[in-house]
Amino acid sequence: MTRPAIGHRARTSFGPSAAWPLTLAMVLGNACAGARDVELEQNSFAGARAAMVTDQITRRGVSDLRVLAAMREVPRHLFVPPADQSRAYDDSPLPIGHEQTISQPYIVALMTEIVRPQASDRVLEIGTGSGYQSAVLSRLVGTVYTIEIVEALAREAERRLKDLGYANVTVRAGDGYAGWPERAPFDIIVVTAAPDHVPQPLVEQLARGGRMVIPVGSQYEGQELQLIEKDGSGQIRTRQVTPVRFVPLRRGRG
Ligand code: SAH
Repeated sequence: MTRPAIGHRARTSFGPSAAWPLTLAMVLGNACAGARDVELEQNSFAGARAAMVTDQITRRGVSDLRVLAAMREVPRHLFVPPADQSRAYDDSPLPIGHEQTISQPYIVALMTEIVRPQASDRVLEIGTGSGYQSAVLSRLVGTVYTIEIVEALAREAERRLKDLGYANVTVRAGDGYAGWPERAPFDIIVVTAAPDHVPQPLVEQLARGGRMVIPVGSQYEGQELQLIEKDGSGQIRTRQVTPVRFVPLRRGRG
């Protein structure tokens, strides 16, 4: 429909009116180039995320399809400082300020898989940091409650999660050692800073049938990732998963 009309105009007149569509096309073209750049950038991050999942995560044995999909979906580059965006999909932790780090993608995926997230689960995370682990969990469960001891990080993560639309995450500033008794019990507890012993309040706030993943030990003598499960009768079973290296769980008000 439109093509013959334009052709007709171009053939019959080479005056200013024929030049208009060209100018308009150029202006529109420039405007579109900006949008295309953004789209290209988003696509290249999507490519980086897909590569992160195959090269770093499935290769090391994480196979839960829902977890892999969440890792492919959450824009990790928006959880790191702007200067580090190009390294966001590297196989390593990255600094997020206040001497804290966002965990290595594989560790986030591993911790998420071993707590076996279900769509209706209530989750408590200790150590919000950037909010990335919360965002990944939020794709897979009903509700995420997360506690961060560094007030500035808590506020930053809260804003970021809100802006990105992760509406089922609630952030609180405080010492996560004591858990969040008002919101207990939790089907899943994920601790992303290492205490030298398992905090008893967290064990108490784990629901029957619940799973907790927690790095335990000192930075110097080494930490072990533990999976702690509470069965239907309240019995606790602990399994050592793998050696890890997390920032220490601090005590007090931060
Ligand atoms: N899960 C985070 C990474 C966390 S790094 C992410 O996805 O980005 C560990 C975080 O635990 C740090 O931000 C640190 O400030 C916090 N932390 C340390 N001790 C804590 C405590 N007692 N209660 C709550 N958060 C704590």
